[in-house]
Amino acid sequence: MPEIDPKSPEAVAAWTGIWVFIEHHQGKIAKVSLELLGKGRELADQRGVPLTGILLGSNVKHLSKTCVEHGADKVIYVDSPHLEKYSTEPYVEVCAQLVDQRKPEVFLIGASHTGRDFGSRIAVRNHTGCTADATKLEWDMEKAKAKGEWELIMLRPAFGGKILAGIVCPKHRPWIASARPNTFQIPAPDATRKGEVEQASVPMTGKYHSRVIKFEELPHSGAQIDKAEMIVSGGMGLGKKENLKLVEELAREIGAAVGASRKVVDAGWIDRTHQVGQTGTTVRPKLYLAAGISGAVQHLAGMQESGTIVAINNDKKAPIFQFSDIGVVGDATKILPAVTAEIARRKAAKGKK
Ligand SMILES: Cc1cc2nc3c(=O)[nH]c(=O)nc-3n(C[C@H](O)[C@H](O)[C@H](O)COP(=O)(O)OP(=O)(O)OC[C@H]3O[C@@H](n4cnc5c(N)ncnc54)[C@H](O)[C@@H]3O)c2cc1C
Repeated sequence: MPEIDPKSPEAVAAWTGIWVFIEHHQGKIAKVSLELLGKGRELADQRGVPLTGILLGSNVKHLSKTCVEHGADKVIYVDSPHLEKYSTEPYVEVCAQLVDQRKPEVFLIGASHTGRDFGSRIAVRNHTGCTADATKLEWDMEKAKAKGEWELIMLRPAFGGKILAGIVCPKHRPWIASARPNTFQIPAPDATRKGEVEQASVPMTGKYHSRVIKFEELPHSGAQIDKAEMIVSGGMGLGKKENLKLVEELAREIGAAVGASRKVVDAGWIDRTHQVGQTGTTVRPKLYLAAGISGAVQHLAGMQESGTIVAINNDKKAPIFQFSDIGVVGDATKILPAVTAEIARRKAAKGKK
């Protein structure tokens, strides 16, 4: 595996800039790519390097504007009918060559289904590693200040969330990290930002083992908690499956999605698409209400970036209270219906029902 000498300034300087893989679907950029542009902007400003969006597709140039508005200094796009829909071989063929030619120091990729497939293959093709599901990305500022050497620390939970592992990759470039949707915040778009847009032409074999013939969206299914602005989540503290309806009723009353802890999912009370956490979905709603959830690290990993966190738990020492903005000590099976009824009453009083 080719290595670079981290002590050689020339070898290190050959790899520069921060890239973000711009995932898109049906003419719309994926939310996770916008989130990564925000994070990438921050890292690029600290390092004093440009931020570039990598856009592959067919007739996708118009998406460059959104990338620039969300922080990119430059967008490199490749336009080909082979790239119309995401398919592993052509995408990796093109992007691996771009990496090889232009040598970015950092490459950020969304940990979506597409990104998981794409990121790992790009890493292999370019003889480097990929930190999957990073939850924090930060420069080692002590090292940068003391020695003028820049190193990206890619942090991710390990051993079931019991430790946060800082991963570095001194001898290989680019530093590739994937992050799940909702890990970072989307920056506010700035329509006045200007950026360079370059069409790159990369040789393609056009010979692939598989090709996407048709893309069919499944009818709305699952909890869709990743997109929800408000989530009411239930844990084992609800006592029994039937009590989950207390969570569902409050969620319905305020227009929220229903979340759950893994124990609740494992118990078969609700399907897995509702699971919040490290092995479920990472969420970042404006309001997260946790009823009867203890606040285990694996659950917190998936919701602690939420706007306002409200916890109802009958144990005042429950860990969830350390992370909540509003804590209610009491029986969730009594408090939930009371809150639902009160909201319904106030809505009725205001003539909203
Ligand atoms: C590798 C790994 C990955 C994991 N991934 C996830 C994940 O993605 N998501 C996740 O959620 N978990 C995950 N877990 C499991 C996690 O460690 C916890 O076991 C789980 O989150 C606990 O769920 P809970 O809080 O609903 O249940 P419990 O831990 O049983 O807590 C129930 C809480 O309810 C309170 N309570 C009891 N009665 C009442 C009442 N009447 N009213 C109010 N409160 C009450 C209790 O005080 C307690 O705090 C993972 C574990 C491992 C090892």
